[in-house]
Amino acid sequence: MSDQLMITLQTALQQLAAQHTTETLGNRSSYLGASDIASCPRKTILNKLNTPESDLVTLLRFRRGHMAEEIVAAAFASAGFTNFQRQVEVRHTGAVPVMAHLDFVFISEARKTMAVLEVKSPENIPEHPYGAWETQLYLQMGLLADSYPDYTVEKGAILAVNFGNQGMQLFGGYSPQTMIYQGLMDRATTIWNQYQQYSDGGLSTPTMEIGPLCGYCPFLADCPKFEAEEVQELTESVEILTELQHQQRDLETEISMRKSDLLAIVAQRGPLKAHGQLLRKAVRSRKVLDTNRLGQFLEGYGQSLADFQKSSSYSFLEIKKAA
Ligand code: SF4
Repeated sequence: MSDQLMITLQTALQQLAAQHTTETLGNRSSYLGASDIASCPRKTILNKLNTPESDLVTLLRFRRGHMAEEIVAAAFASAGFTNFQRQVEVRHTGAVPVMAHLDFVFISEARKTMAVLEVKSPENIPEHPYGAWETQLYLQMGLLADSYPDYTVEKGAILAVNFGNQGMQLFGGYSPQTMIYQGLMDRATTIWNQYQQYSDGGLSTPTMEIGPLCGYCPFLADCPKFEAEEVQELTESVEILTELQHQQRDLETEISMRKSDLLAIVAQRGPLKAHGQLLRKAVRSRKVLDTNRLGQFLEGYGQSLADFQKSSSYSFLEIKKAA
């Protein structure tokens, strides 16, 4: 019964996602979208030729994205904003079909200006916006400026909405950059040409660009880049992670030392104030299982604690020196 319910829900979400894509984005294999150009070319091309069925997590991620946009739109409406349009479609007029759908475009008819707001709903809001987000925004601003020559596109921003405990964060201060836009259009031309060649069988492997988001790529399992004995392109990521882990260990030691020193003071002296904070020794109790007594009790019934233990598996990233 519950398995059947889960299958029904997942199938319905799949249909909703397909319907939403068709209604808002049309046939994605016939043009390059802003996120296609920002992504690894191999991933973009394989996605167009053979869109994999999304798993439940991805489907829920899609819905989360739509919900974030709806929340922001409702907030703008409630705040009395009427000067914006949603899902504005802009196209490049050149030979390569490039199209983008802009989440929010703010328009001032009086000043003939426009501004772009792109909404993201990441699992965790990064300290700095991802490069792919910025690329997408620059492309959107460029396409908007091309599509509305009577207006000046003044600025753009990325609003990250987190449904956990991070809330929202605005990354602003972007303005259209002709050089970046031109570079992205050149990149679009390269990807489009590779797409045509790969489809015709004239190209065996499109360009691959390893990045931190490869783990979410549905074409990783047979990606030639990962067949190498050592994946050079991940050096920086692993280097940063190991450095952060060292810093974390040092910080934890430092924090624990400072805590012990201050606790020793308030334990003797009683509560005190410093740096606008109240420091005191607190004692909390928690219930713990007396496994010795429980073991003895179970023994009386011919059983032991081990009879009630079961294994469960979990995954984690293990890092150790390579041979
Ligand atoms: S795994 Fe990474 S490099 Fe390979 S196709 Fe996917 S995104 Fe590109």
